[in-house]
Amino acid sequence: MFMADADLMETLVSLCKRRGYIFQSSEIYGGTGSVWDYGPLGVELKRNLKDLWWSAMVHQRDDVEGLDAAILMHPRVWEASGHVEGFTDPLVECTRCHRRFRADLPEVEGGQCPTCGTKDAFTAPRMFNLMFRTFMGPVEDAAATVYLRPETAQGIFVNFLNVQGTARQKVPFGIAQIGKAFRNEITPGNFIFRTREFEQAEMQFFVKPGSDDEWFDSWMDTRMRFHRDLGIRESKLRFHEHGPDELAHYAKKAFDIEYEFPFGWKEFEGIHNRTDFDLSRHQEYSGKRLEYIDAPTNERFVPYVIETSMGVDRTILVLLADAYREEEVEGEVRVVLGLHPRVAPLKAAVFPLVKKDGLPELSLKLQADLRKAAIPAFYDAAGAIGRRYRRQDEAGTPWCITVDGETAEQGTVTIRERDSMEQVRVGLDQVVGWIRERLAG
Ligand code: ATP
Repeated sequence: MFMADADLMETLVSLCKRRGYIFQSSEIYGGTGSVWDYGPLGVELKRNLKDLWWSAMVHQRDDVEGLDAAILMHPRVWEASGHVEGFTDPLVECTRCHRRFRADLPEVEGGQCPTCGTKDAFTAPRMFNLMFRTFMGPVEDAAATVYLRPETAQGIFVNFLNVQGTARQKVPFGIAQIGKAFRNEITPGNFIFRTREFEQAEMQFFVKPGSDDEWFDSWMDTRMRFHRDLGIRESKLRFHEHGPDELAHYAKKAFDIEYEFPFGWKEFEGIHNRTDFDLSRHQEYSGKRLEYIDAPTNERFVPYVIETSMGVDRTILVLLADAYREEEVEGEVRVVLGLHPRVAPLKAAVFPLVKKDGLPELSLKLQADLRKAAIPAFYDAAGAIGRRYRRQDEAGTPWCITVDGETAEQGTVTIRERDSMEQVRVGLDQVVGWIRERLAG
């Protein structure tokens, strides 16, 4: 059973804290606005997601190269990209309670303050730039101003020729990177959905103008397939095409991949046709040519860019919201985080049925074998076996392995599958292969 939407967010926040997935940043100081820390299980989930993305986008393709660009960039980058002038949201302030909001929130558009409820007490909207600003070096003046990048894409554009030349790539090809981005959002919220510090997994694919529509369609398919392969329910995924009023200034076409979150259908990845906007602007602002020369014809052109931009944290929220369910089992509520085994932080847990007769030693040996095979496994000898199962169900661990009297005698263990709760008997020396097979399938 999946939970009623209204309660799901609160339930997820508390499960994430209880199980060590996600904590509020600086919690002992009362927390800081809209920033979150990933705990022991959360960091594994996030790494697994990023590794799967990297594998699909870089390792398994000949036409995409990786990059890890710095967060701080030359300030002119953000003038060229249009962010200094235009990366703004309209901001209003309630003259009664002095809280500030994005003017385009539905409640605010209706004239009512979401905090104190006062009607028609907003100031006129002013444009607020979402970039975080700081200073490079010891002098705090305008010449030393730098920005924390609000998107990872610009690091890719300015390195277009470096990567193309050194990797000897020919257009069409792409550059992928995963990294932090910062936006001073006016109204953050919904847990890790909208935060001020977050991670993006972006890929810019450089194509010959004229072939951009075809590549756009192909990347839409590829990216949607990626999310389906993570086990996300199909009925909760859809595309949303940007209408003319939603399109960014640089975009010819844009589709969002949306998930039906407990608070409605929302974007968690964008696919954009950015045309030659970025490379042309960097050419203009830097004075350096950013053209590609097509080998046989010597034709010069500035490539068009198809971008796929996934929010890592938002996708984590998709995975968690999609996986959470409560079931009634023998009169008790069973909480299950049905994460796909490939993203699950722990793949297995090993339990000695009792803490004697050499079972703990056999269990620890099995845990060590699993670890050696790069299968993260947890050892738990505390409490009744049912309680140990429930703890792992809630943590999202797909397989629980119990070592019992028969293990010592016949060399077999019981593997219990999280979702079906079915149990099978498997030879001790077969366990690694049994799990590997399921992780690959
Ligand atoms: P939104 O309209 O929700 O602000 P956006 O259209 O500005 O998002 P993009 O600039 O296309 O988002 O960024 C690509 C992806 O980065 C988004 O799909 C989202 O997953 C992620 N992202 C953007 N802003 C945030 C944020 N403040 N917190 C977490 N993730 C974000």
